[in-house]
Amino acid sequence: MSAHSVQIVEVSARDGLQNEQTPVDTDSKLQLIRGAIDAGIRRLEIASFVNPKRVPQMADAEAVIAGAPRRDDLTYIGLVMNRRGAERALDTDVHQLGAISVCTDTFAGKNQGQTALESVDGAAALVRLAAAAGRQANVTLGAAFGCPFEGEVPIDRVVDFARRIADAGPVEIAVADTIGVANPWHVEDLLSALRAALPDMPLRAHFHNTRNTGLANAYAAVRCGVAAIDASVGGLGGCPFAPAATGNIGTEDVVYMLERGGVQTGVNLDALIELAGWLSGVVGRPLPAMVSRAGGFGERASAA
Ligand code: ZN
Repeated sequence: MSAHSVQIVEVSARDGLQNEQTPVDTDSKLQLIRGAIDAGIRRLEIASFVNPKRVPQMADAEAVIAGAPRRDDLTYIGLVMNRRGAERALDTDVHQLGAISVCTDTFAGKNQGQTALESVDGAAALVRLAAAAGRQANVTLGAAFGCPFEGEVPIDRVVDFARRIADAGPVEIAVADTIGVANPWHVEDLLSALRAALPDMPLRAHFHNTRNTGLANAYAAVRCGVAAIDASVGGLGGCPFAPAATGNIGTEDVVYMLERGGVQTGVNLDALIELAGWLSGVVGRPLPAMVSRAGGFGERASAA
């Protein structure tokens, strides 16, 4: 099976920046968002409505949403962990709430102070809350490929959680390799099982490149027919609650791979590379994604 096009969801302004120790100001975040839009990105996760004491880098969520460009062809996602966060998000004009549930009890406990099943039911409740307010919501199943505290996560459990969430009517369900332990075969097994269980549900995949399998996992996910892939310019990223989790897969690396393979993303590689260079200056260090160092290649490399 070969996908004709895949949507890239740019997460640098949220997952990318949330682990940065040095505060990044709102204007720089807005510049990052505008840069990604100029490169052709149309769906972006740009804020997280978490307790600012826990994740200070996301304290300006409302200001980021208010300052981001308004256009009919853009979709902004704001992450919400609980009812309080969802209410804050619904007070803004963010398009879509991104609810999180976590696949193991220990991780869910540390992340949200809940059991895994409570986090699943909680996410479903937030989807219903968003719907009641006339807003869309998606749900991401965190630690779907492995847990830093409990180890292996059975595929059956993830599928069971996804079914429960699907009943609430999200626009999409995502599986996240929060700590970067997945391999492409695991991706294939999990996504095939989800596809079989929920044939009509759009799926999204979220990978971290902690063990250098991120791009291979993205390839496997696209081959399994995901509608969207999360990526972060420069490969910036991490998770404050997951020990040793490193960056998201780099947007420029994913776009290069997909466009060269004939899968359309609608994103301009040269513009992404420029943006990654700028972002590296903002955070004050080289970023891990590789295509920004080597540049593109061939006629598809700059596809717009
Ligand atoms: Zn992540």
